[in-house]
Amino acid sequence: MNVLVIGGAGYIGSHCVRILQETGHRPVVLDNLAYGHKAAVPEEVPFHVGDLADRELVERILRTHRIDNVMHFAAFAYVGESVQDPLKYYSNNLAGPIRLLEAMRAAGVDRFVFSSTCATYGIPEKMPIREDAPQRPINPYGQTKLDFENCLKACAKAYGLRFAAFRYFNASGAAGDATIGEDHAPETHLIPLAIWAAQGRIPELTVFGDDYPTPDGTCLRDYIHVDDLSRAHVAVFEKLVEPGTALFYNLGTGKPASVLEVIRSVEKITGRKVPYSLGPRRDGDPPALYADSRKAKEELGWEPRFNKIDEIIESAWAWHRAHPEGYAK
Ligand code: UDP
Repeated sequence: MNVLVIGGAGYIGSHCVRILQETGHRPVVLDNLAYGHKAAVPEEVPFHVGDLADRELVERILRTHRIDNVMHFAAFAYVGESVQDPLKYYSNNLAGPIRLLEAMRAAGVDRFVFSSTCATYGIPEKMPIREDAPQRPINPYGQTKLDFENCLKACAKAYGLRFAAFRYFNASGAAGDATIGEDHAPETHLIPLAIWAAQGRIPELTVFGDDYPTPDGTCLRDYIHVDDLSRAHVAVFEKLVEPGTALFYNLGTGKPASVLEVIRSVEKITGRKVPYSLGPRRDGDPPALYADSRKAKEELGWEPRFNKIDEIIESAWAWHRAHPEGYAK
């Protein structure tokens, strides 16, 4: 398939581009480079710099490259920022992708894969989380993702759009050859920050609360390898056959790790201390979030290959060790 990867220069998008190539598809990237890195995309992959809300540009790309399927990874994803500046999130994560769907309709492209998030569930009542759990996001970031899921559903019903939305848990790790990896600015995620602390790139890590109702008092999260996420995106293509197909899948290992377990794993893998101090809880952090991904396993034959936190951190460490400053700017 010819696949337009929007946000293909970002963390998850760039890994998906590699998996598409490995599985014999032809990716084309559209990225506005607001957060992405040109260096994350192989030179042979057609690359367009621009915005997903630019209807004319998107329509032209869809026609020129005879695109069969669009993948959308170009959302803003800083929860705190979404609370402080909600319009930035409604504009980029909801209004922009609506323009994109209009361009797809105009060009007659009707297959779509959307990166959604477990943040659409808010604070779940039951763990592990199944796809039919109530969706009650607690911040504008999660809300814009849920709103767009609902928009997709309506488009499937009305226009026959075929789509899959993947609700990711904690994307982590890096490509096996350590050529691409996680490089956010600003960085807010636990695993890269713990590695930075081990490398001395930051003086110390702050652990956000140790009085949660969990075995060691720190939050439990479901860390899922970015290549495992990417494989699910490709595996779903064969399901997008019937017009009006609307699919939702959680993607996680279902085996959560606590903040302290992540720190210990980083120390073991890197052979260095992770200096850290205890801070207050971070607003909006539920004690535990982990996935029931049985639906993806049963319907897509998908299995995570990275099931242990040590394996995920090993691959993240290989990237950070090879690129101590991230991508060359
Ligand atoms: N966390 C932490 N210190 C940090 C960053 C994160 O203790 O500097 C904790 C955070 O409270 C959460 C877990 O690590 O329990 C994972 O956070 P991250 O931001 O990586 O992902 P999220 O679960 O928020 O999507």
